[in-house]
This record gives sequence, structure tokens and C-alpha cells, in this order.
Amino acid sequence: AGLDAETAALVERRRRTFGPTSVLFYERPLHVARAEGVWLETADGTRYLDVYNNVPSVGHCNPRVVRAVAEQAATLNIHTRYLYDVVHTYAERLLATFPERDDYRAVFTCTGSESNDVALRLATIATGRSGFVVTEGAYHGNTTAVAEVSPSSRPGKPLAPHVQAIPAPLAGDADAAAAFTADLEAAIASLEASGQGFAGLLVDTIFSSDGVAADPAGFLKPAADAAHRAGGLVIADEVQPGFGRTGAHMWGFQRHGITPDVVTMGKPMGNGVPIGGVVAREALLQGFADSVGYFNTFGGNPVASAAALAVLDEIEERGLMAEAGAVGRHLLDGLEQVRARHPAIRAARGAGLYLGVEFVDDAGRPDAARTSRVINGLRDRRILIGAAGLYGNVLKIRPPLVFERAHADRLLDALDETLAAAG
Ligand code: PMP
Repeated sequence: AGLDAETAALVERRRRTFGPTSVLFYERPLHVARAEGVWLETADGTRYLDVYNNVPSVGHCNPRVVRAVAEQAATLNIHTRYLYDVVHTYAERLLATFPERDDYRAVFTCTGSESNDVALRLATIATGRSGFVVTEGAYHGNTTAVAEVSPSSRPGKPLAPHVQAIPAPLAGDADAAAAFTADLEAAIASLEASGQGFAGLLVDTIFSSDGVAADPAGFLKPAADAAHRAGGLVIADEVQPGFGRTGAHMWGFQRHGITPDVVTMGKPMGNGVPIGGVVAREALLQGFADSVGYFNTFGGNPVASAAALAVLDEIEERGLMAEAGAVGRHLLDGLEQVRARHPAIRAARGAGLYLGVEFVDDAGRPDAARTSRVINGLRDRRILIGAAGLYGNVLKIRPPLVFERAHADRLLDALDETLAAAG
């Protein structure tokens, strides 16, 4: 209903050819045709401000990335068992963003899921144990093993015996932080009691699908210490917060002053060209190599590496990390002002350009229906945005990093207007 003929025809072609696992955004799906910077344009020529997509982090169709990909594709692209320069230049540049350890080494993959799959295997091999602790709204990916440690992708289903889920510290205060560590310790004890043992703590360091937990910065430190005391690994899933998004730091875990054993990454790494990675202590990778080994046909191939290198160049030369910090602060200040006018907003929180706005009903309960109305109201105002959180009641703000103050102001005005109109 309400679709133009061309879009309706595409939906129908999709229905006839795609498996039922494929889900589109919006009741009236968007038929997108082209994009540039922070703008996504539909086939009918309407431009939307993109507040949703963190993959094109240095901007949709970023010219430097496009050029690097085109030049590399026209020169050499091949599987990953030969020597070629660009992946080595990239590995050096990537590892240089991790001053925490000089024994970190990289493995390249194609997706965040593959990266987390490797991380789980590293931890089980290194510890000889199988138990993992994750947060209760976490999503870490789609392989069989990774889906088991992704409670958000199995709603209502019991977790596997080797998985314990704890609440993310969404309240953002010292009590929530202390509770997080206490919950982790209890979960570890439970894994030990059941005989699974504790292999590691796997956390998205901005807790995106839990509904964004950023404060107080440093809250992960006591938890990471507890994980290490128990002999487990600390795995930082940087798929969402990585590559400068949280402002001031390249990696989300750096806001917390922790040193993970394993760091996983993906999404914005190639600005849309599939590339993911695992950065881990060399000894862990040695254990992996000795036991099973790993080969990934496309992971870090020349074209993917060229894209990823151009992304790092853009982040560094254009100072996008600091920009994300400054624009994010401006946006968060503005959201506080919107909140003051609309009691439906319980809290606005986050770091850099990863922010969450939590909606509640009159009784203070999570309000997914209102969140959905806001998402649709913003779409009507030509802004694309999504939701996160256990209850789907947190507006998720994570635009391309080239998002500027003027874009933030446009979002704030539209949000204010939408809330005034739709409650
Ligand atoms: N980890 C996190 C935190 C994610 O948000 C996602 C994707 N939403 C993944 C891992 C999986 O990445 P991919 O879809 O590239 O496999």
C-alpha cells in the first residue's frame, strides 16, 4: 500500500526470488538509487539525510575510496595466498592504531561475523574452555557459533549452555558500572559450576544493540580485570564503535582504558567494500595456527585492502575522529534540549557519533511504538534512522562520520517537530 508502481514491482520481484530471511526496512521500503556524503537518494530523486548508516563512514561514494577501488581493480585483484603490497601497507597502518601492545597481529576476513567467529575459536583454543559471557541485547553476527552468543538474534529462545548473558549498564552511572562487573563475576561462576568453564568476555564496546552504553568511560576496566583474573580472554567487538566513531579514540575500548586480547572489526573498515579483521595477541594466533589454521579467500584481497587504506587516509587526513567527537557533543547537547521539552525521552546518551535516545511511555516503560512512530515521522521529514535496544525503544544515531553540525541541527529540528506532532 502506498508504493509507487516501480517500487511495488521490485518488492514483487524480491518476493519471488528471495528467501523469507530477507527483511527490508520500513513498511513502504525505500528504493534507493544513488548516494553522496551523508545523503541517500531514492529512485524518484528524493534526498534523505542518512543518520543510520555507519558502513559508509567516510561518506557515501567517497571519491578517494572510489578511486582506490577502481585503480586497484584495474591493476590486480586476487585471492590472498600471494604477496602483494597493499595489504601489508594496510596491516602496518592498522596495527599502528593500536599502541596498547606491540605483539598484536592481524587476520583479515570479509565480515564482522567471520571476525567474531575467529575470536571465539581463539578463546576456546587458548583456554581449553567453552563458556562465553555477552550482554543480553548483544548482536555479534550470523555464523552458527556467533549466533549462539548473540541473544538479540534469538529472542525468546533459551541461550546455549555455554553462554551467559548479563545486562549492559545502560543507566550510565557508577552503580550500573559496579553491577556490570558483579553480574560478570556471577556469570563466570555459573559457567565454572556447570563445567563449561570461562573462555572469554565478548562485548561491543559501545553496546549498540543493547541500546548504547557509553558512560562512565572506564566502566569496562574492572570487568576486563575480572575476566582476566578468571583466566578468560577479553574480546572487544569494534564492528560498531571502531574506526574513530566514538570521537577522541580510534577504538571504543580505548575510552575504557582496557587492553583486549582480541579485537574484531568490520562494517566501516572498507566503507562498503567487504573487509573485516581480527587483531589479537600473536601467541593466541599461533595457537590457532597450530591447531586448525585459517584461510579466507577474499579477506584482505587487494581491492578490499585498497578501500580500507583509503578509509584510514580519510579518517586521519580529514581529522574525522575529532570531528565525530565535536559534532557528537553538539548533537548530544541538542538532544538534551529536545529531551527537556519532551518527557517521552528518558535519556540521551552515547559517545562521538554513536548516540541513543531512549523513549518511555507515561508510566516510564520502554515505548517501542512511539520509537517506531518517531522513525516513520523522521522518514516523512526525509531523515533515515533506526532503533536499537532490548525493547526496540532506543533511537540509534550513527550517521557517516562526515556528518556536520548543520546536519545535526536538521536532525534536532526534525526530531522536535516529529515529537510535537506525533507524541
Ligand atoms: N558485531 C556487531 C557489534 C555488529 O553490529 C554486527 C553487525 N550488525 C556484527 C558483529 C556482524 O557483522 P557482519 O554483518 O559484517 O557479519
